[in-house]
Amino acid sequence: MDGAQTPVTAPVLILLGPPGAGKGTQARMLEEQFGLVQLSTGDLLRSAVAAGTEAGQAADAVMKAGGLVSDEIVIAVLTDRLADADCAKGVVLDGFPRTTAQAEALDEMLARSGQTITAAISLEVDDVKMVRRVAGRFTCGDCGEGYHEDFKPTKKPGVCDACGSTSMTHRADDNAKTAMSRLDAYHVKTAPLIEYYEQKAALRRVDAMGSIDRIGQDIAQIVRGA
Ligand code: AMP
Repeated sequence: MDGAQTPVTAPVLILLGPPGAGKGTQARMLEEQFGLVQLSTGDLLRSAVAAGTEAGQAADAVMKAGGLVSDEIVIAVLTDRLADADCAKGVVLDGFPRTTAQAEALDEMLARSGQTITAAISLEVDDVKMVRRVAGRFTCGDCGEGYHEDFKPTKKPGVCDACGSTSMTHRADDNAKTAMSRLDAYHVKTAPLIEYYEQKAALRRVDAMGSIDRIGQDIAQIVRGA
């Protein structure tokens, strides 16, 4: 779909940070608190892989290796999703942009509807600890609630606190080896976006090594003041 038709008119938040920084968790909290729509390009790509679409077939091997899917594919997938009516409520981008080309494409997409980024929130973490964070993650296969073996275990082993499901899933790329590649990709391709948004005066930094709730409060304060 043509990006010119994107109906987004409300806040556009970006969450920046290495894998395991908590982008998905915080995006879900923002969704609940502010009625925004979480747009995770990782989730969109995983759906495309599961559905066996052309984009999914092209993305599959790259994702398994912990590399970055091509800008062309990711921008197309995101543009398509942004055009859905629910995105008019405002969006929180989780995992996009990851390259300067993607950031520029997003700016152009928004400019066509007279918009700019509301804030790019950088989740600042200790990288070395990220690999452990990523390797311990799992998700409820039914409602999507995220957990972690050490930092956010389910109250009852194997049972989702939110919906009671026992269908827990573990992402294929959430292992120590792939996590290292994803961290490398972050440093080389994505970290330069911190300066990109700093120059646009859109960057907000948050210490993301503390508790999930405290980080959420810091982010909520930024969103209210934006
Ligand atoms: P995530 O769920 O955000 O950790 O993304 C999982 C994987 O999907 C990444 O390791 C990449 O292979 C791919 N991916 C997600 N978002 C992007 C993006 N914006 N650009 C390139 N690849 C992406």
